[in-house]
Amino acid sequence: VSESGAPPEPVRRLEIVTIGDELLLGFTIDTNGAFLGRTLAAAGIEIVRRTTVGDGAADITRAVGDALERTGAVITTGGLGPTSDDATKPAIARLFGRDMRMDETIANDLRARWTARGWPGTLPTSNLQQAMIPESATILANRHGSAPGIWLEDDRGRWVAMLPGVPREMRGMLADTLLPRIAGKSDIDRPVIRSLTLRTTGIGESSLADLLGELASGIPGTTLAFLPGTAGVDLRVTVRGVPLPEATSRLENAAALLRERANPHVYGADDADLAAVVLDACRIQGFTLAVAESCTGGMLGARITAVPGSSDVFVGGVIAYADAIKSSYLAVPGAMLQEHGAVSEDVARAMASGVRAVTGADIGIAITGVAGPGGGSADKPVGTVCWAVDMRQTVKSRRRAMVGDRGEIRERSAQAALELVRRMLMAG
Ligand code: ATP
Ligand code: MG
Repeated sequence: VSESGAPPEPVRRLEIVTIGDELLLGFTIDTNGAFLGRTLAAAGIEIVRRTTVGDGAADITRAVGDALERTGAVITTGGLGPTSDDATKPAIARLFGRDMRMDETIANDLRARWTARGWPGTLPTSNLQQAMIPESATILANRHGSAPGIWLEDDRGRWVAMLPGVPREMRGMLADTLLPRIAGKSDIDRPVIRSLTLRTTGIGESSLADLLGELASGIPGTTLAFLPGTAGVDLRVTVRGVPLPEATSRLENAAALLRERANPHVYGADDADLAAVVLDACRIQGFTLAVAESCTGGMLGARITAVPGSSDVFVGGVIAYADAIKSSYLAVPGAMLQEHGAVSEDVARAMASGVRAVTGADIGIAITGVAGPGGGSADKPVGTVCWAVDMRQTVKSRRRAMVGDRGEIRERSAQAALELVRRMLMAG
């Protein structure tokens, strides 16, 4: 066992194997895989495949063996602990033809920790399992927990790095030990992987692709992904394998081209939040904001108030779920509710104007809809949503059939209402 060992060549491509029955059963979401993907990409290392296997030794051996055949560089997480379901080390040791040995340094360290914590008796034998290390392995120190990571390398330079499953320990070890080891020295010529996201809303994936025309099939030197969600369709541009200055200029160039085509639908970049964008625009124009919510039940208000500093723009609102509240607090005429029904553009408009009147805000936003799963009818099926904005007496409303389950319909509704405000603010 060596603590040092010559560091390997900087690596560009590798595979991930996440280990654990709980991952396959869906009780634990593989956040380790996601975190490794993001962190390694930022360091210019591409994950070309990610595999998840259960705790069985044979499955681990096969998955890691296959991955080694393909890339010669593999990171595993999970199964390093002291319990019998933790089979990662012996399974991979076998793959490298190495025996397991007790590492006295680790064993003593474990015993010392046990005593230092004032736990009774001596260290249980099962805990000593953690000190069993494959022959000629390199130890990756774990300052964040007890199970050390292991680095195994064969004479052809192919390697496996075994990290713990506990996400906090895995992240710590990656940053402290593994990343410096595999990323090599940072230099300006080092190839990187960089992405940029343009966030669009109010337009479907295929309409957006049509709008982008030939750009939709990719801008040379970049790849483009359409990522639809309840907030809208995100356009993610990625550049791989070029130095940072080149990557940055390619991304900026691609973003400019995409923005030019998709302009009115783009509300921001990267992790921009439409509520924050609307608040900023209101602040610049000196407008205050109030909400009147039926089917979203406060979701819009929650999104707005989740943004730090919203209080100088947002004054409050009314959750007008029952018709009686729409009438009494927002002055929606009873006859209008009778004639058009609560889910109608007329009622949405009356709610928006009503909330402006009671709060004195410059802008009133209203949402009323059928979130389902019950309550739909032939002319107003589940997903029918109406929303309206009253901006200093300029009133605009929309009606749309939203897709998705109850939660998605409500999220889409809040987003659509915010987008109408943004459009009206942009129009001046
Ligand atoms: P321990 O010493 O705690 O046993 P370990 O290396 O053996 O560590 P596991 O037993 O596989 O790790 O998992 C420990 C914890 O980390 C579990 O709660 C598990 O759900 C969680 N975990 C394991 N793998 C992942 C993963 N890929 N993503 C997120 N959480 C994970
Ligand atoms: Mg475990």
